Amino acid sequence: MVESAEQALDAARAAQLGGAALVEYRVDGCFNLDDDDARAMISDVVTRSPLPCIVTCRIASEGGEYHGDDEARASLFEALAEAERPPRYIDIELASIETSAPLLEFVKKLAQRREAGAPAPRLIVSTHDFERRPPNLARRLERLRRMEDAAIIKVAYRARSLRDNLELFELLRERDRPTIALGMGEFGLMSRVLAPKFGGFLTFAALRNETATAPGQPSLADMKSLYRVSSITPSTRVFGVIGWPVAHSLSPHVHNAGFEAIEFDGAYVALPVPQEWEHFKASVGMLVDDQHLDFAGASVTLPHKAHLVRLAQERRDEGWEIDATAEAAGAGNTLVRRADGWRVLNTDLPAISELLEERIGRLGARRVLIFGSGGAARAAAVAVTMQGGVALLHNRTQARAAALATEMDAFAHTRGGSARQVPTDQLADARPDAIINATPLGMAGGVAPDESPIDLAMYRERAHEIVVFDTVYQPRITPLLKQASELGFPTIEGAEMFVRQAALQFEAWTGRAAPRALFEQIVRERGTESL
Ligand code: NAP
Repeated sequence: MVESAEQALDAARAAQLGGAALVEYRVDGCFNLDDDDARAMISDVVTRSPLPCIVTCRIASEGGEYHGDDEARASLFEALAEAERPPRYIDIELASIETSAPLLEFVKKLAQRREAGAPAPRLIVSTHDFERRPPNLARRLERLRRMEDAAIIKVAYRARSLRDNLELFELLRERDRPTIALGMGEFGLMSRVLAPKFGGFLTFAALRNETATAPGQPSLADMKSLYRVSSITPSTRVFGVIGWPVAHSLSPHVHNAGFEAIEFDGAYVALPVPQEWEHFKASVGMLVDDQHLDFAGASVTLPHKAHLVRLAQERRDEGWEIDATAEAAGAGNTLVRRADGWRVLNTDLPAISELLEERIGRLGARRVLIFGSGGAARAAAVAVTMQGGVALLHNRTQARAAALATEMDAFAHTRGGSARQVPTDQLADARPDAIINATPLGMAGGVAPDESPIDLAMYRERAHEIVVFDTVYQPRITPLLKQASELGFPTIEGAEMFVRQAALQFEAWTGRAAPRALFEQIVRERGTESL
């Protein structure tokens, strides 16, 4: 939003340095009164702009701040169009051109200028809906496409589900001229990042998050270095993390950097899917069934890990396959496209068993005390028992631990292991070789950030023999790990598990070795964010 000429030009220079090819000056905030100072400032900015520019003076009903009349707007555009260095594009709303004589007149004059061979800005004709995909989208498109003077068509609406993005991609694929089609809000991120895959004329980015001109607009730095938008092409395969909430996941940082490191043609985005099973089923079904998306795999996180197994079971006769251990855990965290279907696996399991084995050797007959009975505890119990280990389960709600123990014991016996519940009064005699926290206790911003599931002092005598593994990764050193270190227990951090399970996902998707050192570096550098 233009506030002063120098500020706007500084921002444009910063955008240029950040790799932008074009800059948009939103003048609606400063051009409400038709005053000469504002006009002079805007034409000064356009003349001195370090990058080719779009000038937009957006009306309030389409998300802007312009409340003035259309005569003033049209005369501003005319002055800019006739200047020695006109803007490359002027963006005007479809609804304004259709209803305003001065703006229609301006559009005609622009066409005449161009016909006469004079330099003239090209017209972007746009339509916005900040609430939803407009119910009359097809009509709007028809009207846009009838507008011969529109050099570029722009459609932007609030995406309210991932499905709304697919319609935007279809619109790009079926374009009859350069087209911009963007979804606003958290659900629309995919349309912004993947616009180049479908031939979008451009995608917008904010210089900084707080300067975004539309909800959900990513920053220029994220577009360039996190999503590597300039490397996205029609052949790019699409991956993402499915969860709720998922906007702050570290997975896009890790996997996109990995793709870049091994020169793999993939793009990885956050895919928010609300928590209900119906949303999951519909959204994932749409992603995997879309013929044009090149969707090739996903990480699946809370609260959908059990949903992934359920979906795979429902679609088994359509070529979906579930790894036996993921099915035993009742939770999957990875979806992988295969030549003739989809595969569901749970990389938390091998991540846990690998980390434990590296510290305590083979798990056969080893005793692992697991706190919790949710998804992470189930993964830990399967990881231990599938190698013939003994899973000792303890949970706040004892009945849940007992039920899980019964279920896991049946699985464990097929692998030579066993599982049983350990009530609180028997913890001191549990004789564990490893302890795993699979509850959110100790998690920053969680239910009890200062708490641990157990006082390790009860095992003090065997401190050097017992590995303490906290699946919580934020903070890196939880209260449990802090006490463990103080008492001399060897430890495993949740961040190590994150890197390990991410690397296994990456390898399943790409068939190549994951750059684990790079993953570790990213997790270290971004350790304060959500994983
Ligand atoms: P979940 O399904 O919600 O289960 C949470 C478990 O913690 C339940 O058994 C619950 O007990 C127990 N619990 C919750 N609040 C408690 C409290 N105040 N006191 C005692 N017990 C409590 O969650 P989840 O998916 O298993 O995830 C658990 C943790 O694993 C997460 O916090 C996450 O940090 C971690 N995790 C890490 C990774 C990684 O890559 N490092 C991957 C996955 C998960 P009730 O049964 O009594 O409700």
